[in-house]
Amino acid sequence: MAESNFIDYVKILCRSGKGGAGSRHFHRAKYVPKGGPDGGDGGRGGHIILKGNRHMWTLLPLRYQRHVFATDGQSGGAGRSFGKDGEDRIIEVPVGTAVFDADTGEFLCEITEDGEEIKLLRGGKGGLGNWHFATSTNRAPRYAQPGQPAIEKAVILELKLLGDVGLVGFPNAGKSTLLSAISAAKPKIADYPFTTMEPSLGIVNYRGDKSFVMADIPGIIEGASEGKGLGLRFLRHIERNAVLLFMVPADSDDIKKDYEILLNELREFNPDLADKSRVLAISKCDMLDDELREEISKELPEDLPTVFISAVTGQGLTELKDLLWREINSEDNQVKSTMTHRNLDVRHRVEEEDDFIFHQDDSEDEDFPIDDSDWEDEFWEEEDSVNG
Ligand code: GDP
Ligand code: MG
Repeated sequence: MAESNFIDYVKILCRSGKGGAGSRHFHRAKYVPKGGPDGGDGGRGGHIILKGNRHMWTLLPLRYQRHVFATDGQSGGAGRSFGKDGEDRIIEVPVGTAVFDADTGEFLCEITEDGEEIKLLRGGKGGLGNWHFATSTNRAPRYAQPGQPAIEKAVILELKLLGDVGLVGFPNAGKSTLLSAISAAKPKIADYPFTTMEPSLGIVNYRGDKSFVMADIPGIIEGASEGKGLGLRFLRHIERNAVLLFMVPADSDDIKKDYEILLNELREFNPDLADKSRVLAISKCDMLDDELREEISKELPEDLPTVFISAVTGQGLTELKDLLWREINSEDNQVKSTMTHRNLDVRHRVEEEDDFIFHQDDSEDEDFPIDDSDWEDEFWEEEDSVNG
């Protein structure tokens, strides 16, 4: 496939910053021969943060930025001075980006809103300076805490387009033509298959003041769920659509059968997809006379709303929009973001207990999701070996 600007899959290596070491400094002044411990705390290491940006449509910028490393916190200093915190690194991603552990395939989190921030890797906490450890029996502790280590993780970012309606059909069904007829999107149209190599989104205006988003994705061919053709790579985009618009052209030999093949492809890929609301459009109906149309009508699948359309003459387009609008706003579709996972065994959600992702609203003093107990042990063991 030709080099494309639409990148929906990247692997990047992320590393948070190490916490700065606490200082074990002792106060020294001319007339204070035995000054107390005054070593300050180390700074926190930088976090790795993901942030949604609705102006981004592709993961392309990340393709040239395969490593994202935050900086380390600085060591504490004399006079209880704090080490500077490391700098956070913010990775901007399009809305609809899901994050997976590159080694295990585990789903980690997803960005669903513009401006949403998720801390992907926490920066290491800074170590405490020696003055914290002064006690009545040990007024001059020679130790301070080391900073917490950095965390490194390879992650896969996958973009799933957010559209209200996803177009499902074989190549040449007329999907791109429909999208350009009812929205301002200008997808490529041609009378040979696979002209749509990149998904495109169009905003469809509906009855003046309303709108919804329709996504044209590359045609499915039979066997797409097994990796044939272009289909598989793009099928994941459908996962996020609230309503699926199936499109079969009027000149198909067997409309019902084509519809069933398409549905089956989706089901093979991800059984949850078959639960989505469906609408069937018979496209290119300008090619039909009344008689043919009558005949076709008798043999349509019964379990879904069906409409005859022609993107060329405009026939049926208002009816189609009415139908889609009704489905998008039906109660079942109020919860639109049904994150589903293809071929991934782990169904691990961010809201549940997790070991390193934490959320924006967590304060600096939060309990880190990582169990600190090992680290505390390390600190006590290092009691005598910390360098000045
Ligand atoms: P896609 O592969 O599903 O995106 O299909 P396209 O939108 O690229 O259309 C494939 C071919 O069908 C093109 O030659 C279009 O001009 C033609 N086509 C699309 N819609 C209509 C229609 O409503 N009527 C007729 N007669 N032809 C159409
Ligand atoms: Mg197309």
